[in-house]
Amino acid sequence: MSVPLSSKTVRDLRSIVGAAHVITDPDRLLAYESDGLTQYRAAPSAAVLPASSDEVARVVERLHGEGIAIVPRGAGTGLSGGALPSEGAVVLGTARMNRILEVDPDDRLAVVQPGVTNARLTEATRPFDLYYAPDPSSQSTCTLGGNVAENSGGPHCLKYGVTSRYVTGLTVVLAGGRVARLGGSGRVASGGLDLTGLFVGSEGCFGIATAIEVRLLPLPASVRTLLAIFDTMEAAGHAVTGIIGSGLMPAAVEIIDRATIEAVEASVFAAGYPKGVGAALVVEFDGTEAGLDADADRAERCCLEVGAREVRRARSEEERLGLWKGRKKAFGAMGRIAPDLLVQDATVPRTRLPHVLASITEIGKQYELRIANVFHAGDGNLHPNILFDRADPDELERVERASHEIMKLCVDAGGTITGEHGVGIDKRAYMGLVHNETELDMLRRVRGVFDADHLFNPGKVVPDAVETPAEPVGSERASAAHAEAGAP
Ligand SMILES: Cc1cc2nc3c(=O)[nH]c(=O)nc-3n(C[C@H](O)[C@H](O)[C@H](O)COP(=O)(O)OP(=O)(O)OC[C@H]3O[C@@H](n4cnc5c(N)ncnc54)[C@H](O)[C@@H]3O)c2cc1C
Repeated sequence: MSVPLSSKTVRDLRSIVGAAHVITDPDRLLAYESDGLTQYRAAPSAAVLPASSDEVARVVERLHGEGIAIVPRGAGTGLSGGALPSEGAVVLGTARMNRILEVDPDDRLAVVQPGVTNARLTEATRPFDLYYAPDPSSQSTCTLGGNVAENSGGPHCLKYGVTSRYVTGLTVVLAGGRVARLGGSGRVASGGLDLTGLFVGSEGCFGIATAIEVRLLPLPASVRTLLAIFDTMEAAGHAVTGIIGSGLMPAAVEIIDRATIEAVEASVFAAGYPKGVGAALVVEFDGTEAGLDADADRAERCCLEVGAREVRRARSEEERLGLWKGRKKAFGAMGRIAPDLLVQDATVPRTRLPHVLASITEIGKQYELRIANVFHAGDGNLHPNILFDRADPDELERVERASHEIMKLCVDAGGTITGEHGVGIDKRAYMGLVHNETELDMLRRVRGVFDADHLFNPGKVVPDAVETPAEPVGSERASAAHAEAGAP
């Protein structure tokens, strides 16, 4: 339930950021009710859109002075409910903090405000033959602030690593409006502990990143991209194991399953993938020209050895984008076959992919749910996408039960509950599957160092007490999460 702010608080906030940038109108607040995890919704008390680090600090000081919680928000593309408003909280959006503050080609560093989108940073550094490597599939929309908070990955993170490898400095506004500068000028720590590393992946629970310094990489000189087509997911999974096991180091290895291919090919994003096939595998190599063809040849052989029906190779940048299209537009294409989509996220050891994927299919059958898989296969990062209609309570409950079984399956296979989308509200109840009480207590204490009163993103990530659901909890978990998040 939305709790209105007092008129004095609203006046004070307007005097800090300007009247147009404090939103209290319920119709306009609808845009802030949820993120990409659409089955959870809650109205914030207000949304405030500061333009600078100084304004963020003053807003935080004003709100925390009254004990009002703050939920940081970038573009709202998060898939674990991280930007979901908690009861009585104010959303602090970074949409106006969208300036690239510095590009330093000599030191290969850039400093950006948190609302800069991931793809824009690469566009801005391309003229210097540099780019920002972590590339979430949402990169045209998601922000660097959100990427830092989630420690985001992407298709090319198999070779290049995730966000934490690239963030070298942060300016952060902490509880009460205190400002800290962590690392900087290419060094993650100014001396002592790596506080920058600790902040990356803190999911909006430690404070607000208001300036972000990142490492840039030289653009790869050349690229080779393959699309391999298989009759079964199992064969595609074996091809992944074969490629990595052979010592090759692809930049990306992505799997798209039958349901996803069908959705893409029936949509405006049709990529020309063959119909009636079990899976497609996109494999990309990049680097200096020498050796790339040999690597691509070896990968092709690995695919053919396990029964690939066909292997295509891009001969131009246009063809390369065509091969990637089915992968990149997968989520958009699914929007036309179901009103809601739960994009699950978990990791398993690569060698367990065939077993885990087969079991996910069984879980889908058991709960009468459509599950489509499109994921970063190279690093065993699964994204089972459960298609549903949240207006159907019975289906919603089956989604919750199936999700729990998928998480347990991945943990039992030696994996974990998230690869890149974070814990947020969605995975909080699963933290007991991967952490014992001592570890959870450590997480709570570390959070307390940054934000003793949990005034940033309360109710997210770390459960207050052990919340391991021994059995599928169905709609009870959804209701509990809704209640805590203040959802109606
Ligand atoms: C189609 C699609 C594809 C995706 N593909 C990928 C992928 O390949 N890899 C991947 O990792 N993720 C992916 N995601 C998930 C999502 O895009 C990422 O988690 C992204 O980093 C979120 O950025 P955002 O700006 O939308 O953040 P939001 O959703 O607004 O917020 C995410 C979290 O960050 C916190 N936050 C935001 N800004 C700040 C800040 N300045 N300081 C502190 N905390 C902050 C919020 O409180 C919240 O907890 C995908 C999502 C979609 C919809």
